[in-house]
Amino acid sequence: MTVIEVHNLHKRYGEHVAVDDVSFTVERGEIFGIVGPNGAGKTTTVECVEGLRRPDGGTVNVLGMDPRTDGAKLRRRVGVQLQESHLPDRLKVAEVLDLYSSFYPRPADWRRLLDEWGLAAKRDTAFGKLSGGQKQRLFIALALIGDPEVVVLDELTTGLDPQARRDTWELVERIGERGVTVVLVTHFMEEAERLCDRLMVVDRGRVAAIDTPAGLIAGTLPEQRIRFRPSSPVAESLLAELPGVASVTVHGPRVEVAGTGDLLHVVTSVLARHQIIAADLRIEQGTLDDAFVALTGRRTT
Ligand code: ATP
Repeated sequence: MTVIEVHNLHKRYGEHVAVDDVSFTVERGEIFGIVGPNGAGKTTTVECVEGLRRPDGGTVNVLGMDPRTDGAKLRRRVGVQLQESHLPDRLKVAEVLDLYSSFYPRPADWRRLLDEWGLAAKRDTAFGKLSGGQKQRLFIALALIGDPEVVVLDELTTGLDPQARRDTWELVERIGERGVTVVLVTHFMEEAERLCDRLMVVDRGRVAAIDTPAGLIAGTLPEQRIRFRPSSPVAESLLAELPGVASVTVHGPRVEVAGTGDLLHVVTSVLARHQIIAADLRIEQGTLDDAFVALTGRRTT
């Protein structure tokens, strides 16, 4: 079931076109990532989905509602973690969660969120005394407090240390497993690859590609290289004529096969048929980072 449908979205700030004809759909229970260089229009796009910005053109439908006209109803069913948020410094963590839960008709149990997001020991700490990472986790807990069907996380792990980032990924996976639809704006390719079912790459306000992380890599950088040491000599011609193989190079005892498609399967199958064992087998393929650079000509950060 489609939960978010965006068609031909346009948004300008004065003369500057921030979002230029963006279309995508998100299915229920998906973790959908939006990646792109700084200023690509990611935040503007999700703000239009959240109903926080009015598009200049195109249509947005979230859970069957138009954020322009059904904003109040929508906000009860969509949780949002903004890229930048602030709270009064003196409010304590438990007070913030208790206050926010009072805004929703059927809030999640905030004490459970406190435990889940590793904030139980900080429940009586004032917001102003939390570390950057703790503030970030509090804002994610606040995005989940209304027990939303859709949650939008903008720069989820920016400012977190590597361990906190990994812990956060596990929690986001758990959100996804509960059937909640997640839209994740991120700069981190590792995060996108680990968490997202599908990714939209945006560049200069336009969609450069939408696919699974593996599909993006295969579509942009199709060539793979397989290196191995055969247990007995293998005729180059045997490998060269296989489907998808572009080149075969023999360096002493090592063989390198380059090509596209289901290369690993075709190479290992033919070796098995000839009772040859491939020792020290290595596969080299482009990374999501490489695919991103190939699509946009830029790195994310
Ligand atoms: P980042 O990764 O840096 O957060 P982004 O992809 O989320 O970037 P947006 O924040 O959507 O990009 O911004 C897209 C473009 O619109 C940028 O050039 C930005 O300077 C501009 N922009 C964003 N908000 C405003 C605003 N309120 N007024 C004017 N221009 C804006």
